[in-house]
Amino acid sequence: MTKSSATLPELRHTAAHVLAYAVQDIFPDAKPTIGPSIDNGFYYDFDRSDPFTPEDLERLEMRMLEIIKADYEMTGQAVTRETAIERFQNNQYKIELAREIPEGQPITLYTIGEFTDLCRGGHAHTTGEIGAVKLMSVAGAYWRGDEHNPMLQRIYGTAWTTQAELDAYLLFLEEAAKRDHRKLGADLGLYSVEEEAGGGLIFWHPKGAAMRAVVEQFIREGLAERGYLPVITPHVVSEKLYEISGHLENFAHGMFGPLEVEEQRFRLKPMNCPGHILIYKSQARSYRDLPIRYSEFGTVYRFERSGTLHGLTRVRGFTQDDAHLFCMPEQLQGEFDSTVGEAMRLMSAFGFQKFEYFLSRREEKLRTENDAIAEAAIKNALEKYGLPYEIDEEGGAFYGPKLDINLHDAIGRTWQLGTVQVDFTLPERFKLEYRGSDSADHRPVMIHRALAGSMERFFGVLIEHFGGNFPAWIAPVQAMICPISEHQLEYAMQIRKTLRDQGFRVEVDESNEKLGYKIRHWKTQKLPYILVVGKTELADGTVNVNERGVEEKRPSISVAEFAQELRTKIEEKK
Ligand SMILES: [Zn+2]
Ligand SMILES: [Zn+2]
Repeated sequence: MTKSSATLPELRHTAAHVLAYAVQDIFPDAKPTIGPSIDNGFYYDFDRSDPFTPEDLERLEMRMLEIIKADYEMTGQAVTRETAIERFQNNQYKIELAREIPEGQPITLYTIGEFTDLCRGGHAHTTGEIGAVKLMSVAGAYWRGDEHNPMLQRIYGTAWTTQAELDAYLLFLEEAAKRDHRKLGADLGLYSVEEEAGGGLIFWHPKGAAMRAVVEQFIREGLAERGYLPVITPHVVSEKLYEISGHLENFAHGMFGPLEVEEQRFRLKPMNCPGHILIYKSQARSYRDLPIRYSEFGTVYRFERSGTLHGLTRVRGFTQDDAHLFCMPEQLQGEFDSTVGEAMRLMSAFGFQKFEYFLSRREEKLRTENDAIAEAAIKNALEKYGLPYEIDEEGGAFYGPKLDINLHDAIGRTWQLGTVQVDFTLPERFKLEYRGSDSADHRPVMIHRALAGSMERFFGVLIEHFGGNFPAWIAPVQAMICPISEHQLEYAMQIRKTLRDQGFRVEVDESNEKLGYKIRHWKTQKLPYILVVGKTELADGTVNVNERGVEEKRPSISVAEFAQELRTKIEEKK
């Protein structure tokens, strides 16, 4: 076999065996449990009373390199259940695993050098195929993820075909850490999560809220151009609504529990659709009224386990740029096309350039002839814009198939954001109708669409995509005016008024700090512009412009010239 025959997951899982071998040599009291490959690496869980220290990881890594260099062959052997249990008599975890392998399935032991593991396979042929390996961290993990079970120590590592790939990956991790939206969100004063209020609930601070207002305005403009009508619906509604919609039956695990008032049960809304449906249903509709397009920055609440919450990207309360379209079947294609066009306008405005499209079908047992119509509309729209797509066989909503849009950020990570869904189910469940030109009643089709997805998640992605260096059009503060001394403070205030009157977001640093300190501080805040005003600028009616990312000194320019420069940047969304 050639050295390149193993896939990365095989290579990484083999590295997990190598780690367990190293642990057996250096910490013979530690009991190995399981060691799968994961995205970008692998882990192995061990039961050991003393914690693994960073120095321990270094020793283990050294030993792993020896095991890799020895180029041990990975040899497999099928055994009986009794043999397997006998072989691991001091390790209750392996015994538990061996007992649970279903009757009739092979039970296999795999050996490298002096280390044998119970494993179902999927390896490189030899340890030498691992080109580069690194241990990353240790974390606690319950046996089988169950908090009633013993706490184990999970050692994470990464493995690659070559050292160059490992180096590139480590560099990527460094870059990602710099862009971490949780750190930048705090450093730049954008948002916080307050433990007193509970996890996964976002507090938008003034700067974050200012940015969100700009983004919402941009989205509203696109909606208005396409004939959407804004609506606002309650956050808490009777549980009956979710019985009708099917959410209680299909989505209860994602909902907060009931609230009881006057013996009626209410729920925090997990989705905005039923509210929009009630508005549609509140009066008789004619074919002349259609399509009806309702939009709402609708805040919804969904249950997520506390362990899975993460900054802005995994939360319990979030606001969708949500909209629902009600149309006649013959209008479906046009509406869907227009929605995909809007999605592209939105994403390109934020500088995203690479996308992936998925046609997500409903589970097979749910599919009806309407799914074929809906899927055709999705395919036609994608083909119309020449967008390549993949099929996700069971990724659809319970009420219909959907188009999911993933985007690549500045460092190549993919994020799932927008979704457009075709729905024949909810109109049926809520008995929606319109009077047709034939004077008979017909059922409309619905499109659900959220293009940014959730504002929280979208902001998490924006922060990481830009690394906090927001383009001027969304930056919460576009320019900070720094007077060199108190003698220019009044002049700085005048400039601020002039610029604010033109709609720019400008502030003055009124502190008594030295200029060098002020500039360094505002650079860490990643503002697009810092404007310095000293004696000369005051005398000439100018500002000295420090532009983010530009090192060369620029001659001072008039306030009007600066305003024009900033206006152009904002209009071009650069
Ligand atoms: Zn294995
Ligand atoms: Zn919806």
